Amino acid sequence: MFLGHFGLGFAGKRLAPALSLGALFLAVQWADMLFFPLCLAGVEHFRIHPGDTVVTPMEFYDYPWSHGLVALAGWGLLFGAVYLLARRKAAAALLFGLGVLSHWFLDAFVHRPDMPMLPRGPYVGLGLWNSWPLTIAAEAAVFGGGLLVYLKSTRARDRVGTWALWALVGFLVAVWTGSVLGPPPPSERVVEASGVAMWLFVPWGYWIDRHRAIVPPREAPA
Ligand SMILES: [Zn+2]
Repeated sequence: MFLGHFGLGFAGKRLAPALSLGALFLAVQWADMLFFPLCLAGVEHFRIHPGDTVVTPMEFYDYPWSHGLVALAGWGLLFGAVYLLARRKAAAALLFGLGVLSHWFLDAFVHRPDMPMLPRGPYVGLGLWNSWPLTIAAEAAVFGGGLLVYLKSTRARDRVGTWALWALVGFLVAVWTGSVLGPPPPSERVVEASGVAMWLFVPWGYWIDRHRAIVPPREAPA
């Protein structure tokens, strides 16, 4: 899954307004942000294999530290603990950690059974990537739903708060559309190098966050 992770990041802002959108993106995308550098370092592996599922031409066969259930639970604990020590906000720390773990569950919906629970299996995956309609519906529902929650929970302080957000939304949709509709990538190295650019979304999220304000929950009608 790609867009859906960002959808959860957006929605997280309502549950934990103390967390910047950049921190929320860091949490929900940590698995992928870790995966590509680990591939470049030769620690984790995937290969280009057109037809591996209907939607993606990639075969993910070795990613225990970035995409294992237990590994992500460990990363989530670490993220939550560091946040708690630094900021002393328990609810936000809990959500920060859960955001890291959420990546596994969203990916487990779309991947075929290649998502490790322990580092060397068992492997699970519902395989939505074998269906175009289900893949598009899942990505659109989680991303669109999360974005709607975010739009209702925050408002732009200035023009940047509007345009930086919509530029991000447009860019994410374009990246995702290109990746699923375009030809298979030329090499694993190209995917890995461009995948590292995923880190860009964290400062972009912080930038948006600084230009948007929380909308206070509406008071109960008298
Ligand atoms: Zn992933």
